Amino acid sequence: MAEHQTVTLTFDQLQKLMEGMIEKSNANMISAIQELKKPSEKELAAEKLAEERAAKELQLMIDTAKQEEATKLALQSACNHRKPNGVMDYAGQVHNDGKVRLICQICQKLMVNRPATQYDYQNGPMELEYQAQPWVPQVV
Ligand SMILES: [Zn+2]
Repeated sequence: MAEHQTVTLTFDQLQKLMEGMIEKSNANMISAIQELKKPSEKELAAEKLAEERAAKELQLMIDTAKQEEATKLALQSACNHRKPNGVMDYAGQVHNDGKVRLICQICQKLMVNRPATQYDYQNGPMELEYQAQPWVPQVV
């Protein structure tokens, strides 16, 4: 095409040409923005490091919880739930859900978990009344 050649376009052709140019320009702009929004290698590495750190912390929390649970269960299985004088060492009350719950004061094991009776509502958990009585070993 010669340098100074005159081109004749209809209005529709000119409009299509302009629209095409604008569309292409917009597409270039969008891809440039998308490129700018992409995280850098450094950002990706930092993100990966943060994810790895979070996963390690979570695993540590899980391990610690498991260890604490195992320690608690070992303590509970070794506990006789009694004071040195032989009486049961638990405490508790009638709860709002209508249940009596008594927990060992030494190992925190849930010892009693039953529906409350009218007697419990009036006098407190009946087990606590007998708590003061010394423990008599049962013959198996
Ligand atoms: Zn206990």
